[in-house]
Amino acid sequence: MSEQLAKELQLEEENAAFPEVVAVAEGPFITGENIDTSSDLMLAQMLQMEFDREYDAQLRREEKKINGDSKVSISFENYRKVHPYDSDSSEDEVDWQDTRHDPYRADKPTTTPRKGFIGKGKDITTKHDEVVCGRKNTARMENFAPEFQVGDGIGMDLKLSNQVFNALKQHAYSEERRSARLHEKKEHSTAEKAVDPKTRLLLYKMVNAGMLETITGCISTGKESVVFHAYGGNATEDKVIPPECAIKVFKTTLNEFKNRDKYIKDDYRFKDRFSKLNPRKIIRMWAEKEMHNLTRMQNAGIPCPQVVILKKHVLVMSFIGQDQVPAPKLKDVTLSSEDMKKAYYQILNMMQQLYKQCNLVHADLSEYNMLWHDGKVWLIDVSQSVEPTHPHGLEFLFRDCKNVSQFFQKGGVAEALNERELFNAVSGLNITADNEVDFQAEIEALEKMNEDHVQNHGKKLSVFSSDGDPPIYDE
Ligand code: ADP
Ligand code: MG
Repeated sequence: MSEQLAKELQLEEENAAFPEVVAVAEGPFITGENIDTSSDLMLAQMLQMEFDREYDAQLRREEKKINGDSKVSISFENYRKVHPYDSDSSEDEVDWQDTRHDPYRADKPTTTPRKGFIGKGKDITTKHDEVVCGRKNTARMENFAPEFQVGDGIGMDLKLSNQVFNALKQHAYSEERRSARLHEKKEHSTAEKAVDPKTRLLLYKMVNAGMLETITGCISTGKESVVFHAYGGNATEDKVIPPECAIKVFKTTLNEFKNRDKYIKDDYRFKDRFSKLNPRKIIRMWAEKEMHNLTRMQNAGIPCPQVVILKKHVLVMSFIGQDQVPAPKLKDVTLSSEDMKKAYYQILNMMQQLYKQCNLVHADLSEYNMLWHDGKVWLIDVSQSVEPTHPHGLEFLFRDCKNVSQFFQKGGVAEALNERELFNAVSGLNITADNEVDFQAEIEALEKMNEDHVQNHGKKLSVFSSDGDPPIYDE
């Protein structure tokens, strides 16, 4: 009973979905009169979809067979018939008309002799002959893009009318363009979690070159970067590869970086280049900036990752942690009060070194970008770090100081300076304002003074004038 009901329901559903199909099957189609062709398009589309699905499945099987377990794989992706599922195809119908190529123009001169006819007397065949034209059209389908399957029309002696040929040709063009666009879209976007094909290739190259042994997995996915863990490979003549590496891939989706423009745009080291670059190159500059800043820090002896290599937007550095486990962020670790105090003085010291020796302000310093490893604090994430004379450099420093002071004051370090004291201790400046608003105003006044100096003398003040060296705080 329920089976019967199910059958009936299904029939009803089918009738609702394809009313014409049923009508055609029962009606005029059999008699050959008044052929209703209104559902032909739908049928053709369904058949095409079916064909495409089978074609893709076969392609996947072949791709799998060729690649096997190889580390480097060949993708057949471009040959897939992905378009039936592509929704944003509405503009295509007009798109092909934009091309300089006139799809209605014959591609090659016809083989009909100049006089325009072959034969003699009664057997004369002109270039307008339907059969000749039809065969010629079939042969011309060979010129369509290779992924456009035209079948063996010539073998079947298929004769295509001009109208059908033109429609097919138009279709072939728009398909070609659509596939190219889809491909491009895919190539140029970075997937949320994984990396885009170009980045993957870069990583594979590093593994193939023996620089990295294996890339084990993802440590972190942030808004602007994805960080992977890898085991280091063989040392080269000029490079020692650490046993464990962190690979920071700067994301090539551009949106997230827009609001970070100010860090790099006003950094004079990158200023000249910034305006001339496209967004893709700007992202490489973030990676480059991180590399330079890490190198400066390394030279000053500040605990931080050591740069291994920079390739485009991929920065390889030493891994802070052990056996694939990254060192915890300061925010995630519970330290004894003794260690907490030790960490505080160490950070105070590092901030001074960063400012004085490296001529840098971290600009994103907080318990999120400090790792606790080997009984000490390590600084990471310095792509946005700037020089103190950056138009907003002192503001960034003040923000860093606020984060550090708050964290350690909350963490029970009684000795922790407040943010204003910390700012003065790091910068060596002596801003006396005793409240945040005035303090901030004085900082901005200093920055403006520096900018005016740049305007008038074309040169930045090397350091803001201070009353001698700041006292070095130590335990
Ligand atoms: P983001 O700009 O995404 O915050 P980070 O440089 O802070 O980039 O890296 C994100 C996370 O990846 C860090 O919080 C840290 O856990 C991990 N990480 C980054 N670099 C290293 C490294 N050299 N060693 C170990 N872990 C790292
Ligand atoms: Mg970070």
